[in-house]
Amino acid sequence: MKNVRVRFAPSPTGPLHLGSVRTALYNYLFAKKYKGNFILRIEDTDQNRIINGSEKYILNTLKWARIEPNEGFNYGGNYGPYRQSERITIYNKYVKDLIEKGYAYYAFDRYEDIENIRKSMNKQGIIFSYNASIRNKLNNSLCLTSKEVINNLNSKIPYVIRFKVPSSERIKIYDDIHGNISFKTDFIDDKILVKSNGIATYHLANVIDDHLMRISNVIRGEEWLSSLPLHVLLYRAFEWEIPNFAHLPLILNTKGKGKLSKRDADKSNFPIFPLKWKNIDGYNERGYFPEAFINMLALLGWNHGDQKEIFSLKELINKFSIEKINKSSARFNINKAIWFNKQYLQLKSVEEISFLFKKELNKRKIYVNDNYIKLVINNIKERVSFINEIWDNSFYFFERPKNYDIKLINNFIINIYHLNEIKNIFKHIKIFSKDYIKTIIMDYINHNNLITKNIIQVLRLALVGNLQGIDIYLIMEIIGKIESIKRIEYICTFLSKKK
Ligand code: GLU
Repeated sequence: MKNVRVRFAPSPTGPLHLGSVRTALYNYLFAKKYKGNFILRIEDTDQNRIINGSEKYILNTLKWARIEPNEGFNYGGNYGPYRQSERITIYNKYVKDLIEKGYAYYAFDRYEDIENIRKSMNKQGIIFSYNASIRNKLNNSLCLTSKEVINNLNSKIPYVIRFKVPSSERIKIYDDIHGNISFKTDFIDDKILVKSNGIATYHLANVIDDHLMRISNVIRGEEWLSSLPLHVLLYRAFEWEIPNFAHLPLILNTKGKGKLSKRDADKSNFPIFPLKWKNIDGYNERGYFPEAFINMLALLGWNHGDQKEIFSLKELINKFSIEKINKSSARFNINKAIWFNKQYLQLKSVEEISFLFKKELNKRKIYVNDNYIKLVINNIKERVSFINEIWDNSFYFFERPKNYDIKLINNFIINIYHLNEIKNIFKHIKIFSKDYIKTIIMDYINHNNLITKNIIQVLRLALVGNLQGIDIYLIMEIIGKIESIKRIEYICTFLSKKK
């Protein structure tokens, strides 16, 4: 494919939703696959909806996810400026052309007048739409004389510029995901291209920019499919070549009913934003690796066709194709996201995990040597999906239990006696290895006719504080003889006070 130029065109109206990150990702993959350009354009013509901090958030997200554009807002390039609010004069020039060619017109209707007409039509059961059926009876340059229009303009009567949608036509267009689609123009109203404040609306700015920025493929969310006929009409009116379109299926909530929303995410306590926004944690803060997050997103609507699920970004670039994007909506599943994170964590070297975990230990003012950390990680990593789960699964390697779950101890006196005995045997052991410890303990249990489970549980309480943790003999081997003895002494003192 020649000269691939794609764009991600978010509006700075708040943090990016994970669906938007998927759109950015698919654009990125497509651009990289065909050695094209991935452009970032900020669509901020609707000034009322702008939220401070959004642009920075967009940039930080693309950087975190490692899917940075190589051209566009903040990246530069030959087709700038890449922020639409800096391109207003360009849009105004093009819209004048449309008016001159008869594809657009000035509409001077006051809001109240339109509302009155809407209401009276409603009463007759007719839905008002500013279109071919009524435009000639309203207050616009199609029915006013040119003198009246000039007068209105000179006397600064507020106006909007509307697109003159042709009546009773069928627009046919091919979408790379949805195939051939056709729309009847009668269902489209004469959309406002320039508002009364002189600023272009999304539709006009979007089409002009895609043309001027030489966008070859428009890959965007399915929510824009309904705007497609208007965009096609605009391209036709300008006599511009139409780019290829691909409208990505929606991401549905876990139940598969409706678009995945922030409310769905809040209800099930999973993140919807990639990064922290105000006080809401994103995937990053919850401990997701960007590679895992991206891999999960890539497969949410795209399928390579085989069983493979773990793809590096490089592999995704190689394998990605629009034909393999599913037509139907994808259903979001947070457990799958967690699963991906776990896979990526398991793929990391013990050194890397230890390095990341060491930061957590240091925050808790725990300083131990690196080999010890690596030993612990080696033994517990299969149990965790996130770095931030390591502490809960390994704290007992780093500190003595502070509390004991004493509900679990049924006979204090007998237990104290046996624990003391076992401790005394430990004192004489030279090689404190898990297999040998196990033999010693089992011999003791058999010799005294004890119930294995009871003794093991109380030992586990001594070492961990509750009934969690890896193989008990291995815990003892790792923390060592001295520490194991100390912990047994501790619980004995604790239990004797409870007697
Ligand atoms: N500005 C639109 C948005 O916020 C982009 C639509 C498009 O990609 O054409 O999603």
